Amino acid sequence: MVVQGSFRTAGLLFACLAASAGGTRAEPVPAAPEHAKVTQDAAKLGTLIAPGAPLRKLAGGLKFTEGPVWLPFGGGCLIFSDIPGDELKQWSAAGGLKSFRHPSHHANGNAIDRAGRLITCEHGGRRVSILEKDGSVRTLIDRYEGKRLNSPNDVIVKSDGTIWFTDPPYGLPPNEAKEVEGNYVYCFDPGTGDLKVVARDFDMPNGLCFSPDEEKLYVSDSGQSRQVRVFAVQSDHTLRGGAEFCRIEAGVPDGIRCDARGDVYVSAADGIHIFGPDGGMIGRVLVPETTTNLCFGGADGKTIFITAGTSIYSIQVLVPGR
Ligand code: MG
Repeated sequence: MVVQGSFRTAGLLFACLAASAGGTRAEPVPAAPEHAKVTQDAAKLGTLIAPGAPLRKLAGGLKFTEGPVWLPFGGGCLIFSDIPGDELKQWSAAGGLKSFRHPSHHANGNAIDRAGRLITCEHGGRRVSILEKDGSVRTLIDRYEGKRLNSPNDVIVKSDGTIWFTDPPYGLPPNEAKEVEGNYVYCFDPGTGDLKVVARDFDMPNGLCFSPDEEKLYVSDSGQSRQVRVFAVQSDHTLRGGAEFCRIEAGVPDGIRCDARGDVYVSAADGIHIFGPDGGMIGRVLVPETTTNLCFGGADGKTIFITAGTSIYSIQVLVPGR
């Protein structure tokens, strides 16, 4: 199904990519104690973030930001969602802030597939959609066993092309009924069309990411448990384990990302919490608005872009994303 909208996306995609430089020229957030980095393990944090690296505010005045993904083509640019604004936005140092797609069907999480196409979780559409190279947007997944999904929240793509996403009911449109009984984590194989539930025992499954070797899957639960759980990924796309990896005490965990070393970055109410692969806390980057998600990007993959409240922030790091 192709859903119509005011899509100038294909052109914008490549125009923005050609125009952007991938760096950050925005003004640093004014120095204040609450913006400082909090260290649990100073030696390890020093290997991840240079002393004095500023947190920069790239854009503000949005309604509620989520779902950042870095498009690495050309000069590169950031795509993210303004959920209540019903819009996908794009940002680059060279091009500034622009609209990417409106309406977005209240898009949330975004990812890039192996062919470089944008994969998007849509609350309003109750689906995971794909932006084709010709600019059309079509449904990738919208039902499980004949029942409509809740409101897909976040999505990642494995190197084998499979698409993994979470489906809590946070964005269920008003006056629409929940059809799938649970709030599941799914794996979709575009090659076979097979959609399967890989985890059923979450309250509110939310952010997710793979370890660098893709042998582990981290999934946050933004419900009562406030946990990030870790699973062993099997070759048949099933999961084993699911023990607690860490628990977030400041608000709830939402988006999560791994760096190339296997450290895990988790969004929380007060900023980004960073954990080593063993689950030990390394430190926090405090952000003046409640963070919802993050992604690695920039020309060398060493910029973290953070969606938080009504704004977008960034900070340079020393280890690139996975
Ligand atoms: Mg989320």
